[in-house]
Amino acid sequence: MGATFRICVLPGDGIGTEVTTATLAVLDAATRHAGNTKLVYESCAAGAALYRETGVAMPEESWRVAEAADAIFLGAMGLPDVRYDDGTEITPQLDLRFRFDLYAGVRPVSAKRGGMRVLNDSRADNIDFVLVRESTEGLFASCGKGEILDDREARDTMVITRQTSEQLFEFTFDYARRRKASRERPKVTLVDKANIFTSMAFFRKVFDEAAEKHSDIDVERVYVDACALDFVRRPWEFDVVVTENMFGDILSDLAAGLVGGMGFAPSADIGDQQAVFQPAHGSAPDIVGLGTANPTAAILSGAMMLDWLGRRHGVSQCLDAARLIEQAVEQVLAKRRMNAADMIDTWRTSEMTEMVIGAIG
Ligand code: ATP
Repeated sequence: MGATFRICVLPGDGIGTEVTTATLAVLDAATRHAGNTKLVYESCAAGAALYRETGVAMPEESWRVAEAADAIFLGAMGLPDVRYDDGTEITPQLDLRFRFDLYAGVRPVSAKRGGMRVLNDSRADNIDFVLVRESTEGLFASCGKGEILDDREARDTMVITRQTSEQLFEFTFDYARRRKASRERPKVTLVDKANIFTSMAFFRKVFDEAAEKHSDIDVERVYVDACALDFVRRPWEFDVVVTENMFGDILSDLAAGLVGGMGFAPSADIGDQQAVFQPAHGSAPDIVGLGTANPTAAILSGAMMLDWLGRRHGVSQCLDAARLIEQAVEQVLAKRRMNAADMIDTWRTSEMTEMVIGAIG
């Protein structure tokens, strides 16, 4: 008997709905081809547009479906002109991370699964690293809790806990080992600002304790400013990079820029019980409705979902379906890269989706 997984789908705002439709079509093609896995989707309302209409960003019913689902797929959420009274944006995607304790934000960066080569150096074709961004605390712990004192002073507080840091580093070392199973020695790079902040020195202390338990893995420690420079100067030397929430937020956009932009940046927010898979980009209101949203990031996030489900439930065909999608994306992008002019932001969502489905077979 085949495996059936219930997927809570939150298309969200802007191009979120467009890339979600594309991804579900690809997921169906891949699972059909690999066999033995069926995904049942339950689409739920959430996002900034819903908040504008109803005053609620994520209704209880959507929370209920998300809680009961085997995994959650999210398109994109937030609109620049829809905000809470304090000026911050509506972000149910952050609420999901906090509520389900999705501490590990996994963001792969791969030239093979990217667009044009941005750096003028042939070694950039070998860019292949993964950024693991802590996703429930750090500076984002202050989300919704910042203070303004008498219109004179504003404060947001960075929070680093031992428990979450230990979970994050365990996840990161295991992930690094799995990623390099048949290749050379894995390397984990810690990114912090331990020379300035007590919270970051503590983060490094907990990392050092974890590193001692994983002596088969090389480690390095880099300050966040130096890391930003090295992401541009020698990105091909990174393997797995782990960092605090806010640093990860910034560095993952920089990393996406190295391989062609946000349309090529998949992500997964993973906890011990639940996970949310979504492209790292936002709702991109500037291109909504044009049919030019690049679905690659969302499609690759869908492949990450199949990979997570397959491992968690021991369904090898689900893992096969993930590999089919990754290979199909690589094949389509390799063909497109041969025509450099074609790579300058000329993405038709439907065309790319059909090509990936065609390559799946
Ligand atoms: P957020 O803060 O929610 O992450 P953002 O303000 O960083 O969002 P995005 O919505 O990610 O912004 O868009 C940044 C730029 O990248 C915009 O010009 C947008 O059009 C472009 N962009 C984002 N995603 C895609 C995509 N899938 N395809 C093409 N262009 C995209």
